[in-house]
Amino acid sequence: MQKNQPFVLVTRTIPEIGRKILSNYCKIEVLGHNPPSRKHLLDKVEKADAILCLLTERIDKDVFDIARKLKVVSTMSSGVDHIDVIESTKRGIYVTNTPDVLTDATADLTWALILTVSRRIVEADNFVRNGKWSIPWSPTLLLGSNVFGKILGIIGMGRIGLAVAKRAKGFGMKIQYYSRNRLKKSYENELDADYISLDELLSTSDYITIHAPLSKETHHLINKDRIRKMKYSAFLINTSRGSIVDENSLVQALEKHWIKGAALDVFEKEPIHKKNPLLKLNNIILTPHIGSATNQTRSIMAEIAATNLIESLSGRIPKYLVNHKVLKQCSPEEIKMI
Ligand code: NAP
Repeated sequence: MQKNQPFVLVTRTIPEIGRKILSNYCKIEVLGHNPPSRKHLLDKVEKADAILCLLTERIDKDVFDIARKLKVVSTMSSGVDHIDVIESTKRGIYVTNTPDVLTDATADLTWALILTVSRRIVEADNFVRNGKWSIPWSPTLLLGSNVFGKILGIIGMGRIGLAVAKRAKGFGMKIQYYSRNRLKKSYENELDADYISLDELLSTSDYITIHAPLSKETHHLINKDRIRKMKYSAFLINTSRGSIVDENSLVQALEKHWIKGAALDVFEKEPIHKKNPLLKLNNIILTPHIGSATNQTRSIMAEIAATNLIESLSGRIPKYLVNHKVLKQCSPEEIKMI
């Protein structure tokens, strides 16, 4: 190991390929398998030239104040809501992420949730396991809702939103979406997708799926008033970030049957509290933030996160740079260490 190698703090154990790439060029310290405590993280960042983190670590002004040598924050996630990107940009710190590679896995999970909640798969599985299946076939047993031919409303038509829409075509669904920007006409034509207002999407969709990032604008975007606009027969699916949905209002809506059901992979507080009222409801499907959780995807995410970091420290613009404005504060040549 050379003396002047950059020091990289890896906040949690990541797939081996990521650690291998980093070790070729840097001295690395992995903080552990579980998320580090805030104190542990703050105690360790002082000497870091770069941090490779996960979405469980808040990387904010307090971290930057201590980590005076910090040049790069590379997150092994697509979302960057756990990083103060504005502050890092001001300080000339590069922020990188791992989109694209997890798009299909997350779109697949979204579809798994749509089908599970609409066809009552968890209830059906429990029914069989618990020995309740006594009549061979029943015309009224565990009736669910159609997916085929229904209307899918997508909030946030980016990478994952588009991948979910492509799959919806195979189910003969009518696709409508609300996003910050409208898609190119060619995409709209290919998907036969209609760009409509959020209110219209809420009041006319059978399935509403959220794929926008968490930001000041999207925090509690789906609140009580907006849930009340949904059809009684509609389902809400969220594989984006928990705080986009006001969970208390969703609990109320499910208890009072204002909507038919919901499926969540993400929550306002993760892990979900043992007393969270969502756990008592049977018209909701809950998964523990596993959108990108396939062996293949997680491995490539680690590889990309490590490569982003090494590219930055090598004085090149990394492929997945989030804060392009940082280039005005600090050129790639200025942070070159490798
Ligand atoms: P993306 O490509 O950036 O797409 C996000 C879309 O949302 C963009 O079209 C964006 O519009 C739109 N948007 C931004 N702000 C909005 C607003 N205020 N109202 C409506 N639309 C808005 O991101 P992605 O790769 O699809 O990922 C989406 C999110 O999924 C990530 O941010 C992450 O939080 C989450 N995620 C979760 C998992 C999981 O494990 N459950 C896995 C991967 C990702 P513009 O075109 O204007 O930017």
